[in-house]
Amino acid sequence: MSADLIDGKAFAGQVRARVAAQVARLKEVHGITPGLAVVLLGEDPASQVYVRNKGKQTAEAGMASFEHKLPAETTEADLLVLLDALNADSAVHGILVQLPLPPHIDENLVVGRIDPAKDVDGFHISNVGLLATGQKAMVPCTPLGCLMMLRDRHGDLSGMNAVVVGRSNIVGKPMAQLLLRDSCTVTIAHSRTREIEALCRGADILVAAVGRPEMITADWVKPGATVIDVGINRIPAPEKGAGKTRLVGDVHFESAAAVAGAITPVPGGVGPMTIACLLANTLTACCRANGLAEPA
Ligand code: NDP
Repeated sequence: MSADLIDGKAFAGQVRARVAAQVARLKEVHGITPGLAVVLLGEDPASQVYVRNKGKQTAEAGMASFEHKLPAETTEADLLVLLDALNADSAVHGILVQLPLPPHIDENLVVGRIDPAKDVDGFHISNVGLLATGQKAMVPCTPLGCLMMLRDRHGDLSGMNAVVVGRSNIVGKPMAQLLLRDSCTVTIAHSRTREIEALCRGADILVAAVGRPEMITADWVKPGATVIDVGINRIPAPEKGAGKTRLVGDVHFESAAAVAGAITPVPGGVGPMTIACLLANTLTACCRANGLAEPA
């Protein structure tokens, strides 16, 4: 491996420590405790792990954590009633509804019901529009974490060629918006993109948000490029024993790391930054709600 490892786990620890210090100050000086409400429907094991981690890290940062675990059969109407109550609750500054929702519930309707000022996931159409028009928005946590790592590595991103593989509303599109805001020349690639490999090989910054295990290999990577791997894929790992699995990204780490200048690992890259940014967004929402200066 010749690439530098971008240690998202360590970076996320620094972000969380900074948030915790700012939360402590907010409590001491203003008597305000930021609060994050997380709503989970059903028993999806991966979602339960995410929600547990979010609750734990929220509490560790000194914030109030409100968990609402509801049965999978909860009706859309009941979920909307809960969101209305959370919107009206002054102790709650951030609201996150864990996705995906069961099929009988309209995700767009639910996300649209969250007060945009409390939409710490940044998925509400108001925040999407604010980001796209360069205004003050709540920014989706995963791309925000990627941007922080890129700025940390490069400082000024201006003029760099960035390729984002994936065009989802939660990762690919907002990632592209953020890179554009930082004056990169941005291309979004997707499943219909032609000659995608050559396109990626022109990128100074390559962000993979596809959901296909180890799809991006060394041939896709420009020598010296910075590679951010958002993918989280569980694949069989017979070498660890029968029925065992392991996590890999969308990038074939070993081969890409031989060519790239810097690369994020999976796990330990983008994942930890996502939760750290959720905490940072909750703190930001709390400061805005109370008319206080936003944390740097
Ligand atoms: P989606 O499934 O919503 O989007 C995947 C995108 O990849 C689509 O735009 C799709 O294109 C594109 N794509 C699929 N196959 C190909 C291909 N062969 N070539 C080029 N593009 C392709 O996924 P998400 O954006 O939600 O997530 C992407 C990955 O990131 C997943 O592994 C997910 O688990 C992970 N993730 C990680 C997070 C973290 O905290 N680290 C947070 C969120 C997601 P098209 O639109 O044409 O179908």
